[in-house]
Amino acid sequence: LSERLEGAWKKLRGQDKISESNIQEAVREVRRALLEADVNLQVVKDFVAEVETKALGAEVVAGVRPDQQFIEIVYNELLQTMGETNAPLAEAETTPTIILMAGLQGTGKTTAAAKLALHLRKVNRSTLLVATDVYRPAAIDQLITLGKQIDVPVFDLGKDADPVEIARQGVDKAKADGINTVIIDTAGRLQIDADMMAELVQIKNLVQPHEVLLVVDAMTGQEAANLTRTFHDQIGISGAILTKMDGDTRGGAALSVRQISGQPIKFIGTGEKVEALQPFYPDRMASRILGMGDVLTLVEKAREEVDLVEAEKMQEKILTAKFDFTDFLKQTRLLKNMGSLGGIMKMIPGMNKLSSDQLEKGETELKRAEAMIGSMTVMERKDPDLLSSSPSRRRRIARGSGHTEKEVGELVSKFQQMRTMMQQLGQGNFPGGMGGLPG
Ligand code: GDP
Ligand code: MG
Repeated sequence: LSERLEGAWKKLRGQDKISESNIQEAVREVRRALLEADVNLQVVKDFVAEVETKALGAEVVAGVRPDQQFIEIVYNELLQTMGETNAPLAEAETTPTIILMAGLQGTGKTTAAAKLALHLRKVNRSTLLVATDVYRPAAIDQLITLGKQIDVPVFDLGKDADPVEIARQGVDKAKADGINTVIIDTAGRLQIDADMMAELVQIKNLVQPHEVLLVVDAMTGQEAANLTRTFHDQIGISGAILTKMDGDTRGGAALSVRQISGQPIKFIGTGEKVEALQPFYPDRMASRILGMGDVLTLVEKAREEVDLVEAEKMQEKILTAKFDFTDFLKQTRLLKNMGSLGGIMKMIPGMNKLSSDQLEKGETELKRAEAMIGSMTVMERKDPDLLSSSPSRRRRIARGSGHTEKEVGELVSKFQQMRTMMQQLGQGNFPGGMGGLPG
């Protein structure tokens, strides 16, 4: 609770600037969040350093703590890096649009090719799937099966044909048949492999695709960065599909892919079924990667609730020792508007370690204080000293609020302690121990 008080104080002053020292913890938190989300280490370092430099010196909005604001800046930066809006699939001026799938074996290329075909059909684009993976025994059959499932034609020349030749004939067939989009499924290897790259480059040079989509398994984690770099350097990608997002990864690979290639993630795969494809939404991914959607909600709420004029008045009152029970109630309600205390605490990085017991206790204390203040007269709220000198007033309040006289007494003395402390803070003295809240 002392932390809450400190936050309330900063809120009142509203004069913080983001500095290295007041966001240290938040920077660590963000770094850890990104690493836990499987963002590549170097990408994390570069990204965080960049954001930190940008954030330093920024004015902190009244009602928001510097670390919270920093997280908001991180989020916005992340959003920008991800591309802000979702990037649509290329569409050629003269059909067919040619899409080349690339990626390691097992990442979900073949599945994604079928998913894309289904997606395109929904927007009235006909497709031809082309099977060039002649290396894996069942790869061609897999694509044929998927094609049947979604009622999309599949072009293949068997497993003894040359992949480049299959691609060429596939495109010709699409042209002849007036098909809108050709999706060329390719062979992958378990690791980056010179032969695989050479073959992809050959196909690319021949068919001149409008879109080269790198298919990346979201579970790849750290490796996604190297992978992307190699594919992008050697083939040149125009976008990516992040598959297996239904797994428990937070999808940090998205940031790695984007940061390194500069190309957008266009879709995410969210399951084995052909329907399990979604457009990539940068905002959702940014929240998921940060794992701090809650913090952002808190920042937004705080902005809505805090009235700058009100905050300035409050500050004045504290500095001139006129902070009274009514102000206290306003503060309490302000925080309550922002959600339950427990909820708020959990949203704040580093505060989620509080036990639910402690949180519950804090919340109960606040409720109790509110009830007792509600039973005070206007005079009493303005002048807490009236209460310390009058047992009969305390008794009346106790009865009115359903609490004991002892509890009312405690509220009064704690309120006085708090007021004293706030005055000290107002004069720039930071007492070592922060008092508890009335309760
Ligand atoms: P390829 O070797 O790159 O062509 O990969 P495949 O398309 O054959 O997919 C490899 C495995 O991953 C298959 O078992 C797919 O069902 C599975 N898979 C593909 N995409 C997804 C996805 O988005 N989520 C899940 N859970 N599994 C997927
Ligand atoms: Mg395949």
